Amino acid sequence: MRRLSGTPASAGVARGPWVRVEMVREPESRSVGADRIEAEHRRLADAAERAASELEELGRRVTAEGHPDEGAIFEAQAQMALDPALASLAEQAIDERHVDAVGAVLAAGRELAEQLRGLGDELLAARAADVGDVALRIARRAAGVPDPAPARLDEPSIVVAEDLPPSITATLPRDRLLGFALESGSATAHAAILARAYGIPAVVGVSGLLAALQPGEIALDGATGEVFVDPDAATEADLAVRVARSRDADAQARREASLPATTPDGVDVTLLANIGTPDEAPRAVELGARGVGLFRTEFLFLERPAEPGEDEQAAAYRRAVEAFAPYPVTIRLLDVGGDKPIPYLPIAPEANPFLGIRALRLAATQPGIFLTQLRAAMRAALAGPVKVMAPMVADAGDAGTLLALAAQARSELETRAEAFAEIDLGVMLEIPGAILVGDSYFPRLAFASLGTNDLLQYTLAVDRGNPGLARYQDSLHPALLRLVGEAVERAARAGIELSVCGEMAGDPVAAIALLGLGIRKLSMASGSLPGVRRAIRSVEERRAREAVGAALSDPSAAAVRARLSALLAPGAAG
Ligand code: PEP
Ligand code: MG
Repeated sequence: MRRLSGTPASAGVARGPWVRVEMVREPESRSVGADRIEAEHRRLADAAERAASELEELGRRVTAEGHPDEGAIFEAQAQMALDPALASLAEQAIDERHVDAVGAVLAAGRELAEQLRGLGDELLAARAADVGDVALRIARRAAGVPDPAPARLDEPSIVVAEDLPPSITATLPRDRLLGFALESGSATAHAAILARAYGIPAVVGVSGLLAALQPGEIALDGATGEVFVDPDAATEADLAVRVARSRDADAQARREASLPATTPDGVDVTLLANIGTPDEAPRAVELGARGVGLFRTEFLFLERPAEPGEDEQAAAYRRAVEAFAPYPVTIRLLDVGGDKPIPYLPIAPEANPFLGIRALRLAATQPGIFLTQLRAAMRAALAGPVKVMAPMVADAGDAGTLLALAAQARSELETRAEAFAEIDLGVMLEIPGAILVGDSYFPRLAFASLGTNDLLQYTLAVDRGNPGLARYQDSLHPALLRLVGEAVERAARAGIELSVCGEMAGDPVAAIALLGLGIRKLSMASGSLPGVRRAIRSVEERRAREAVGAALSDPSAAAVRARLSALLAPGAAG
């Protein structure tokens, strides 16, 4: 047996035979003489056209089969195939280096992918895989080589591969797919996102995986990132326990999903889901989410050469709204900028992107993006209750910007005689100053939601992505708890609803702190719902309030965590 470790990408244990899915090979390229230049340009353009129409067709088919989000990946790839940046890099390679269309488009794909990886954003780096996938398809069309037959799974199996581009993932029969183990890839790659959306265990970035494979079975634990090749008897027994435990936990989570998140002394808490695509809705509903507290809309905008139009956005929002009705869906306006650049949005590089022109601050120069989102949200509201919130609001002026944009979007729809319904407007509280001056604008809003991930980074001046600052990155820091308390007080005074949608809400111990501080709505990744529900059902609000009151004077997050963990029944803190 060999035990390998990688990055946990989607929780759950899988065991079974493995099927290796080969990467599609690059066709051979060659040099050409000056007399072939024109012909190679034509060959390149024809191949790109053909690849784009195949990808469009694939997108339509996958959407018609009931997977519109995967369909959208191929539609985005179809646009990428015709991306002028890819074409001009490839043409340049033909002109200057005299390579044929095959070599030119492969080189152009590599260069563009490299640029995306160099932007320092995980999500955009993951999109580099799409660019490579598209360039390879064009190269194969130019070379005239046929596609390999789709991977076959004759029995329930674990798929192992170097990497899984979306064009291959889409061809895998989902009913026989037990899990994925990939030699490369990151937790934000498509295969990982899809695995999480469908609840299939996955581990990525397992170096040495392919070389270690042997005939027989493999097993993986998507929560720990472990992969076992040819597991021995002791490991098999351990895995059987893990499988049974995770099956029990799953069954228990489903049984408990309909139980109210009410404390033993009768205080009700509403549990909501954070989602990034409408595909995540069914699992969230199954686990008992009473609506969406944060729909991160960035996913709709990434991996494409141009922004999604109003109709496309309205359809995506509507799908989420339909899945959760009669409970509300909270759509967050686009949160991009210096730290999350998007190729088609002109945003200048900045020295301090986290303190720069990001999120709602883009409205000053590019209000159109937000107006389109607001119109699409108002149209989706015909299907059920919709709330829209703006990220990175600093003060009353920013709140006013949101209200003005919403008023303009509304009147644009009226002018067009387009049907729509009213939406609730709110802000994310991610900047300490925005909480401190909350009295000056809360009364004009319907709600606010604490984005504790950013709030912590701006409160303690700690980059949220810097692993060297782990000591500060616990949201139970007394400074953060005090700010939450301030927000609760000001929201109550203004009579508006207040929720928490940062990762803090999904941590059972932190959820007890939030309960004690007066928060009654928590929004989290679906997988966190069962643990938080159990925690709320096991701790009296009165005791949570007393404990957090004392915790405000604790010297560190670690001390707060120890104090609050003591309130939870053994095992409930994990
Ligand atoms: C937050 O900052 O807490 C939040 C929920 O937003 P994001 O993690 O998307 O920045
Ligand atoms: Mg944030």
